[in-house]
Amino acid sequence: MLIVMSSTATADHVRGVCERVRELGLTPNEIPGAVRVAIGVTGNKGALDPALFNRLPGVQEAVAVSKPWKLVSREVKPDDTVIDVRGVKIGGGALVVMAGPCSVESREQVISTARHVREQGASILRGGAFKPRTSPYDFQGLREEGLALLAEARDATGMPIITEVKDTETLPAVAEVADILQIGARNMQNFSLLEAVGALGKPVMLKRGIASTVNEWLMAAEYIVSRGNYQVMLCERGIRTFETLTRNTLDLGIVPIVRGITHLPIVVDPSHGTGVARAVGPMTRAAAATGVDGIIVEVHPSPSKALSDGPQALTFEMFTELMGDVRKVAAALGQPLG
Ligand code: PEP
Ligand code: MN
Repeated sequence: MLIVMSSTATADHVRGVCERVRELGLTPNEIPGAVRVAIGVTGNKGALDPALFNRLPGVQEAVAVSKPWKLVSREVKPDDTVIDVRGVKIGGGALVVMAGPCSVESREQVISTARHVREQGASILRGGAFKPRTSPYDFQGLREEGLALLAEARDATGMPIITEVKDTETLPAVAEVADILQIGARNMQNFSLLEAVGALGKPVMLKRGIASTVNEWLMAAEYIVSRGNYQVMLCERGIRTFETLTRNTLDLGIVPIVRGITHLPIVVDPSHGTGVARAVGPMTRAAAATGVDGIIVEVHPSPSKALSDGPQALTFEMFTELMGDVRKVAAALGQPLG
């Protein structure tokens, strides 16, 4: 149920409606929005009767929400969510490029990459410190040392940092450094982690699970938002299909659909979405052509020596060329680079 307040509703009216919702054993969620005040009601098992709220002071109308995920839906919040990360706006109409290595490996590696991608127009630095690897024998990340190097790279370049948080135990340490907390594909349905980042209130990028439907993905986002954190962006990073020539199948077809049903910003990751460096450029261009809010790509000074995801990493030269193309695609759509 969505309760839309009238334009003349006062703060007392809003409080009164929230109280009534609580009396019914339900949860009121005030929806941030520039245009109007609205209250999303969650916690009901079956359909609610709009008559319960329609005649409360200040209420314009109460309407049922048809989707299983409520707070992330456009029905509840028609205007796009814009996330401000140290002045970089994601979801505000610009195309934001996030780039950097898969894993932080050394000071020299991360700072040289940060400088290069910044120079070419990227505005957010990516880099994993705690890595969720398929094999326990693979490089697991530099952990706390990796976080400290990311903080140094931010100081050196002024770029905000996105880095993965892989469990609730390390969340406090990661949240201290990260400007955006990345929830990886393998953790999309780690509900304790979703609840914890929801309570924390920092920007979150939620990657789509390896074999998750859009409905499951949006339900996972709803876990975060229902804890009061609206600063959530979604990231399409490819799904598992029968195809083996690519690491994953980048599901670009869902981008316009997701755009229509949720107000959350959408980012595409062509690096994990293909797993093949020479496919990353073309699929980044394709992703940009869908009008997404962000692109996240892996770049490494020497991909053949990378400790994780070398086969999909772009060299500095490849990234430079790619950014030239991304600028052209974004300009064709009238979209500035963020
Ligand atoms: C990553 O971004 O390096 C990563 C591990 O991504 P994903 O969770 O999409 O596999
Ligand atoms: Mn990676």
